[in-house]
Amino acid sequence: MERLRADVAIVGAGIAGLTAALKLAPLQVLVLTKTALGTGAATQWAQGGIAAALGSDDSPALHSADTQASGAGLSDRKIVEILAQDAPARIEDLLALGARFDRTARGELDLGQEGAHRRRRIVHAGGDATGREILETLIGAARNQEHIRIIEDAHAQDLTVEGDRVGGLFFAVDGRLLHVEAASTILATGGVGHIFARTTNPVQACGDGLAMAARARALLGDLEFVQFHPTAIDVGADPMPLATEALRGEGATLIDERGNRFIDELAPRDVVARALYSRLQGNEPTLLDARGIGSRFPMEFPTTFTACMQQGIDPRTRPIPVAPAAHYHMGGIAVDQWGRSSLHGMWACGEVSATGVHGANRLGSNSLLEALVYGTRVATDILNLARAKAGRDSKYSARRAASDERGPIAELRAVMYDKVGIVRSAVGLEQALEVLDRLSAAHPQRGTKFENMLTVSGLIARAALRRNESRGSHYRSDYPDRNDEQFAKRSFSTLGDVA
Ligand SMILES: Cc1cc2nc3c(=O)[nH]c(=O)nc-3n(C[C@H](O)[C@H](O)[C@H](O)COP(=O)(O)OP(=O)(O)OC[C@H]3O[C@@H](n4cnc5c(N)ncnc54)[C@H](O)[C@@H]3O)c2cc1C
Repeated sequence: MERLRADVAIVGAGIAGLTAALKLAPLQVLVLTKTALGTGAATQWAQGGIAAALGSDDSPALHSADTQASGAGLSDRKIVEILAQDAPARIEDLLALGARFDRTARGELDLGQEGAHRRRRIVHAGGDATGREILETLIGAARNQEHIRIIEDAHAQDLTVEGDRVGGLFFAVDGRLLHVEAASTILATGGVGHIFARTTNPVQACGDGLAMAARARALLGDLEFVQFHPTAIDVGADPMPLATEALRGEGATLIDERGNRFIDELAPRDVVARALYSRLQGNEPTLLDARGIGSRFPMEFPTTFTACMQQGIDPRTRPIPVAPAAHYHMGGIAVDQWGRSSLHGMWACGEVSATGVHGANRLGSNSLLEALVYGTRVATDILNLARAKAGRDSKYSARRAASDERGPIAELRAVMYDKVGIVRSAVGLEQALEVLDRLSAAHPQRGTKFENMLTVSGLIARAALRRNESRGSHYRSDYPDRNDEQFAKRSFSTLGDVA
């Protein structure tokens, strides 16, 4: 087996992994990404933007308060304050790298406003093409750095663990298995959306990093909290393109097939998602009527406009069929304020981590920010450790991919969407666990992807079963109320305690 060495091994080349890589100079960094650089990351699909208290009427304290309100009692106050405090400097970093954010006629950053943010604080680019601009900026910068080596189409498989220390990982590339030995390993593998039949996430977001960490017995947090976006475009594409929330902010309405409105479009995301899910179960279609936006549509929402046109829908003249889809995982690998996991030598940042910022529900536009802030903090922590070690010892030197999936993976995704998705109950969750057990027994010779999907699905279903209440994105039809007496706390688990 070929063996490589690096100071730091990073799995993932989205906003979190690349931010960390750029900040780690002069350490020698190896970045692995499952697909070609610039593809396969949720980052490039992000539309709305990044939140930061930059306006003259805004402050980190206000941003922090809005974030905590969204978290439904479970956000970690100290961690949220760090996020809001660090935000303006992280936007400056992106500007210094050349990110072209939208500006007003006076040349100032054009700050947008989104639901549940009480101030205009959303930095965006190309209208609704923020993620693409950020990823291109980071990739452009990373390609020019001597300390960064990127291996594309490299599939990380498992961590190498001795005791509670991670010393690197195995990965496959071109059918060969390789090992990289690294003093520090960072998991930045993104989310888990692909374990649900309907999702806005890329097919690569199937929980690899979370499953690897689970097998290494790392502490995991808040697994039961999965946010569903109410308005994914429902025309059979997998993943489902997003009809951005900002459309409803601009007056687009949700209507039934007769053209009647049935809900307050500006109600919280989870309330709207549940209303649309209940219609879906009754085979009643929901349409997003954005015709009022008219000729402004292509300029102001180019990403959604292109996605609609690709599906044969002109949103200026026809309402868009929509359905709720798994969008963001609040839970993940439990980390501290420096992104350190419970295992020595392993850090996590971005969507795969659970910092405690999002609590039971993410506030929109805080996830790109969290990836930037924690990518930076992880790098700072590793550099500090390396410097301290150098003092003692000079050794430390250096779209549309899934529709062909049938059989067990499709069955897993269907049961996750139906029983572990928007509306959950003990009966449904037990049924889902039975299906997962049956699929596991019936397919002993499974590949890594299916293995990871089984692991992560089981962990999320069990975490959801333990939370006998409804809070934020987690809704239990058998326990529809919030129960602060028993459950006003984050949840933590390891693979061992649910196996
Ligand atoms: C449609 C859409 C719109 C969104 N809009 C917004 C928004 O406006 N604002 C906001 O804040 N957030 C938004 N989000 C959420 C946000 O985009 C993500 O949370 C964020 O980009 C995650 O960044 P990341 O770096 O953690 O992961 P990703 O960007 O998903 O990158 C993960 C990387 O890990 C790699 N990887 C995974 N597994 C392996 C493996 N086994 N081996 C090697 N590499 C691997 C992938 O190939 C990829 O390079 C949106 C998400 C979606 C899907």
